[in-house]
Amino acid sequence: MSDLDLFTPLDLGFTKINNRFLMGSMHTGLEEAKNGFEKLGVFYEKRAKAGVGIIVTGGIAPNFQGRLSPFGHQLSFPWQLGKHKKLTSRVKKHGTKICLQILHAGRYAYHPLGVSASSSKSPITPFKARKITKLEIKKTIFDFANTANMAKKAGYDGIEIMGSEGYFINQFLAPRTNKRTDNYGGSHENRMRLALEIVKSIRKKVGDNFIIIFRVSMLDLVKDAQTFDEVITFSKELEKVGVNIINTGIGWHEARVPTIATMVPRQAFTWITERVKKEINIPIIATNRINDLKEGNALIKENIADMISMARPFLADPEIVSKAEKNRFDEINTCIACNQACLDHVFAGKLTSCLVNPKACHETEFTETKVLKTKKLAVIGAGPAGLAFSIEAARRGHKVSIFEKKATIGGQFNIAKEIPGKEEFHETLRYFKTMIKKYNIELKLNHEVTMSELESLKFDEYIFSTGISPRIPKIEGIDHEKVITYEELLTGKKVAGHKVAVIGAGGIGFDASEFLAHNPSHKSPSVELKAFLSEWGIDMNYTQRGALTEKKTIPSYREITMLQRKETKPGKNLGKTTGWIHRKSLKDKGVKMLTSVSYEKISDQGLHIKREGKSEIIKADNIIICAGQVPNTQLYELAKVNLSRPCHIIGGAYEAFEIDAKRAINQGVRLANSL
Ligand code: FAD
Ligand code: NAP
Ligand code: SF4
Repeated sequence: MSDLDLFTPLDLGFTKINNRFLMGSMHTGLEEAKNGFEKLGVFYEKRAKAGVGIIVTGGIAPNFQGRLSPFGHQLSFPWQLGKHKKLTSRVKKHGTKICLQILHAGRYAYHPLGVSASSSKSPITPFKARKITKLEIKKTIFDFANTANMAKKAGYDGIEIMGSEGYFINQFLAPRTNKRTDNYGGSHENRMRLALEIVKSIRKKVGDNFIIIFRVSMLDLVKDAQTFDEVITFSKELEKVGVNIINTGIGWHEARVPTIATMVPRQAFTWITERVKKEINIPIIATNRINDLKEGNALIKENIADMISMARPFLADPEIVSKAEKNRFDEINTCIACNQACLDHVFAGKLTSCLVNPKACHETEFTETKVLKTKKLAVIGAGPAGLAFSIEAARRGHKVSIFEKKATIGGQFNIAKEIPGKEEFHETLRYFKTMIKKYNIELKLNHEVTMSELESLKFDEYIFSTGISPRIPKIEGIDHEKVITYEELLTGKKVAGHKVAVIGAGGIGFDASEFLAHNPSHKSPSVELKAFLSEWGIDMNYTQRGALTEKKTIPSYREITMLQRKETKPGKNLGKTTGWIHRKSLKDKGVKMLTSVSYEKISDQGLHIKREGKSEIIKADNIIICAGQVPNTQLYELAKVNLSRPCHIIGGAYEAFEIDAKRAINQGVRLANSL
């Protein structure tokens, strides 16, 4: 048994939670998929088996109006209970509690039937919500209680009421969206009324021995929202009407403040949970950017919170709890908060998964069994694709040797980790290193494989994960000493001067510009809380509604001009949920972005371009090349012809166009699972 405080049971009187871990609510897309509940059951059970205390399901609507999308899941009718019962029994047999989250979308509904406290349209949805009538409010309160009762009948241990992130209940609480003049609007007492009536009605229906968690928006991070006093008064009222646990909610979805992305420092918002905890007597849960369990343990030990909620870390590693319990922290596949395969997928209507763990929510597509016949496999290239392949192949019982031409593993991840705001990439490299040792994978560093050597190596199969090389565009003067590739810049081989032009405004152009904009003698705001809060205008003193204050952006360390040939918005293809942060961060720092340019030449003066028919010179000390990538396929092409053994190609080497680590790791794991 672990001596971590996280493993102390939490006694609610009528029931005991085994430990202090809550797997936070995540919409996976399986809720609405064909046979999705079966797959959801496998997904949840894997996490329950590894010991998580409570699982909270993705948000389920109490009625049609409250659905997030027209086909969003709703639980209101007895005929729906069967599939939920199967789900709850799979989880509960491992001693884990499971709570159904009831979420009413309000004006965040992606359909025309949405309702809110007042008629309004959110900036993130195309539909205007209608003002809900008083009669409909009564009916909605009934619907919440009915869903809670259905949840009880389906075997759930409790429910979580989604009262934050700018959804329906939150819309009633904030003057920003509640302009009513009846007894559900105006004074704080009136704005709280809906939430409190919902809780009372649920409690009356389900009785005392049923967990009610309420997610309180402690920082709305939008204008004209709640005050700190209102948050405290509301939390106290929730306690009075029978809520068992308060969970922390941070930021409305429409807030222009990052709250969970990778550039948000770890545990950036636990200070507000701690303040609310001091005012109430029921357990409280800390959330947002908790992904390290030693740090998470300190939250319990130091009485900052009673439980920790993690959602994405359970996608990244289903065994995060059991690994911590056995003190195997180095084996945890840490969530790097990239959002690329989880939230970005949700917003694109795709199934949720995970960049570092492509099995997440796809568990039934993989085999966990060992192979019957061990093969000797050679992996050429230790980037994310080759490493993910090697670990999965070795786990299944194959004998794997990795050849890497550089002195260290990681491929481009070694470069990515140098970007301010991408410090979490270190964790993936740490995980890869630990697993190489755990599975006795042979690792040959500083070993560039050539065709002549390949012929002499005796392996059963060969995997080419040789990655990419930076594309060098054909521009007159490209050999000029002012020219620096992103690789030379980020590995420190060359240092850029004060004025720079960046050719290419894709993912790497943005990252390189973030690197160039940052003063290297300062810590990145992603690892320094005060700098982060100040950069995004978050007010710890809560002097105004919504806890926002004036942003204090540190201007760019260099004079930067980013350029692209396309007419489209720079960074258009960056992640759906994170692209806006990259764009805003650089714009706020004063980085110029030029589109529709053509490159004429590079000279002592700088970069000569043509724009809108006119020639101009971007005066620059250095020109940084971030013009995409080309695949390293030569070795594979030769091997395919000359070797009599099966050869496979994965990652950037397979296709460099729009290659990212999500695709590279996915290909690696899937190939290894199939051999
Ligand atoms: P690589 O990472 O290129 O690895 C290939 C490896 O093969 C290298 O280590 C190389 O040395 C080795 N090799 C090549 N030839 C030989 C040989 N003959 N013998 C031995 N070894 C050889 N992706 C994301 O998804 N999200 C991000 O946020 C992100 N940020 C990025 C930021 C930067 C600055 C950069 C540069 C990339 C970023 N990427 C990001 C892209 C991501 O890192 C790549 O898509 C991913 O690394 C591709 O993996 P790979 O294994 O196919 O290739
Ligand atoms: P990219 O996103 O495809 O961008 C390439 C850029 O180079 C574009 O701006 C393109 O713009 C320009 N370009 C292409 N060919 C050119 C040429 N011949 N001459 C001049 N400019 C040229 O590729 P990347 O920036 O190299 O990134 C590689 C991959 O890594 C991406 O696909 C991305 O998925 C991944 N990545 C992701 C992140 C992330 O945060 N998620 C961060 C970094 C990297 P024009 O053609 O308009 O000029
Ligand atoms: Fe975390 Fe990225 Fe995986 Fe989402 S995709 S769970 S953010 S590592």
